[in-house]
Amino acid sequence: MTGTIESLISGRYRLTAHCHGCNHSAEVDLETMARIYGGAASVRGSADRGPARIGGRALVCQECAGRNTSFRVSPGDLPSGRL
Ligand SMILES: [Zn+2]
Repeated sequence: MTGTIESLISGRYRLTAHCHGCNHSAEVDLETMARIYGGAASVRGSADRGPARIGGRALVCQECAGRNTSFRVSPGDLPSGRL
């Protein structure tokens, strides 16, 4: 999936980062990410295309420093939705 931080916030999505190396996962604070990277920063998370990226930077696991990471998007208040 690919989108921007802004589109995730406006769609009330929840973004969860997942590490395939150690199985660590954590919810991403989109408001904080928007302040750091800007709302137009891209969010890309797909296990088969390398590490999850936000604003073009690879997501590194906080637990094991691995880069085998992906994002999961969950609909927030919307009944369903895809980017
Ligand atoms: Zn990890």
